Amino acid sequence: MFKKTFFYGLFTLCLLACGQVAFATTLVREQEIAQCLPGEISTWGDGQDRAAISSPILFVYQHANAPAWFDEPLVLAAIQRSAQAWSPCGIASRVTRGSNAPPTDRILVQWSEAGSRGNFGLANLGDRTLSLGLSAFQLLKTRRPDFDARSTLQMVISHEMGHFFGVMSHSKRCVDVISYYNNGQGDTCQIRGGGQIQPGIEYRSDLPTACDIQRCRMANQKPMTP
Ligand SMILES: [Zn+2]
Repeated sequence: MFKKTFFYGLFTLCLLACGQVAFATTLVREQEIAQCLPGEISTWGDGQDRAAISSPILFVYQHANAPAWFDEPLVLAAIQRSAQAWSPCGIASRVTRGSNAPPTDRILVQWSEAGSRGNFGLANLGDRTLSLGLSAFQLLKTRRPDFDARSTLQMVISHEMGHFFGVMSHSKRCVDVISYYNNGQGDTCQIRGGGQIQPGIEYRSDLPTACDIQRCRMANQKPMTP
């Protein structure tokens, strides 16, 4: 789930001397995305990783009720990019638009306020739905009209998709697409080298990181050296 706490970091602006910090942070962030060091996998313990919901996984996109600023090819391409990025997990997946596949055979990717419960996104494994939240994206556009919401869309899709691949517990590693920045009890996520999340700058990756993929492979009992 992408909760409203996700707004942490989005609504304050970086005002002074951010350039140098941002440069160093970008390098560390890129390394963290590409490489999962021994001992770095750590979660908030809020779920139990499990095998993927099916293999292969079929994602079917329905564009109804989408925000006007995201057209269908854009959202579909984002879903395809996320599915492709999860593929090193070793579980095949396929993406199509609005087909008549039986509900038992597909994951429906939809825009639904009820389904997303006010969040940016919500994966419901029981209903086999990945719901995106119009109101959360509307709020983001209102508060940060300059912000590229396509990046948020990509991140939310990658995150929720990961739950269908079996990665359930949220990561303490800030950069992971499955991360939560905090646990709501004063504990915050970790950056390699002890860095801190900078207000106004999104640190989380848009696509699964090396550690997300490693967890996914473990959850699906795939060998660690493919
Ligand atoms: Zn989640």
